[in-house]
Amino acid sequence: MSPSPVKDYPRTWSEFLDWFSSEEACLAYLERLRWPQGFACPNCGGTTPPYRASRIRLLCRDCGHQSTVTAGTIFDKTRTPLKVWLAAAWYVTNQKLGVSALGLQRVLGLGSYQTAWTMLHRLRRAMVRPDRGRLKGVVEVDETYLAITDRKAPISPEGRKNNTSKVLIVLAVEILQPKGFGRIRLRRIETDADVSVIPFVQASVEPGATVKTDGSAAYRSLKSLGYGHQRNVMLGSDVAAHVSMPGVHRVASLIKRWILGTHQGSVQPAHLNAYLDEFVFRFNHRTSRSRGMLFYRLLQQAVVTNPVTYGDIVVPAEEPAEVGEWN
Ligand SMILES: [Zn+2]
Repeated sequence: MSPSPVKDYPRTWSEFLDWFSSEEACLAYLERLRWPQGFACPNCGGTTPPYRASRIRLLCRDCGHQSTVTAGTIFDKTRTPLKVWLAAAWYVTNQKLGVSALGLQRVLGLGSYQTAWTMLHRLRRAMVRPDRGRLKGVVEVDETYLAITDRKAPISPEGRKNNTSKVLIVLAVEILQPKGFGRIRLRRIETDADVSVIPFVQASVEPGATVKTDGSAAYRSLKSLGYGHQRNVMLGSDVAAHVSMPGVHRVASLIKRWILGTHQGSVQPAHLNAYLDEFVFRFNHRTSRSRGMLFYRLLQQAVVTNPVTYGDIVVPAEEPAEVGEWN
């Protein structure tokens, strides 16, 4: 059953304030999202209603295991009140183009930029549903370069320009009939060779789908991997790209505008995939009529998404993550 306003999520900021006036109310809401069928012990799976050892401690009556509704989720061990977390989730989903860490810090009156930044990154992690299906039907796939500025890098004598780097990303866009675009997937890649693009296609597109690419030889093996493959050999002109690959062309320009607008072009290259995840979430939910529904979906995913600590985020692996994780 799909969630409904009034019953499952607030519709306006004023309703939001009524719904989440206390930490208890926030905890009860997250419990309902995490255990829609009622409490299930994370240790033994027992479904006997737990003993409440304190405001947040739940004690399993079957095995004695102690847990909290936030354990093992993106809210794990946070010192930020849940009211602030939910307000952040509300703000992030209500701003059509999202928000920068600085913007979030200001609007929530947070004491530290780092807190705002960490919250945003944890919320981004919850934007990827682990069980989401791969793209189907006709799917355009192409690569493009993004120019991004690393504000944290030391400024060279020649100025900020030298902190701007070009990074390569690969895009997949479902093409609907008779017109329009469906869902998308994005990922940063190291090269435009087959070793980068083929695992992305396999993780993002269902075999049997028809993949449209340019003339690049990197996609040669798609047919042998069970995909239909349409190669559009282009003659090096942007107009040709616009006409023959309208989906990737459109999405690429939206991403560029988003990074320049919401983030002033400043994204640390090591975190680019997290930003791309946020863009995918926004794009794939662009037809959601209610922003409250988006808030509900984000929190629903947040209570089943593994925690991530500041340490995990600031020391990311230099290598791109396993593509399997991306699916
Ligand atoms: Zn138990």
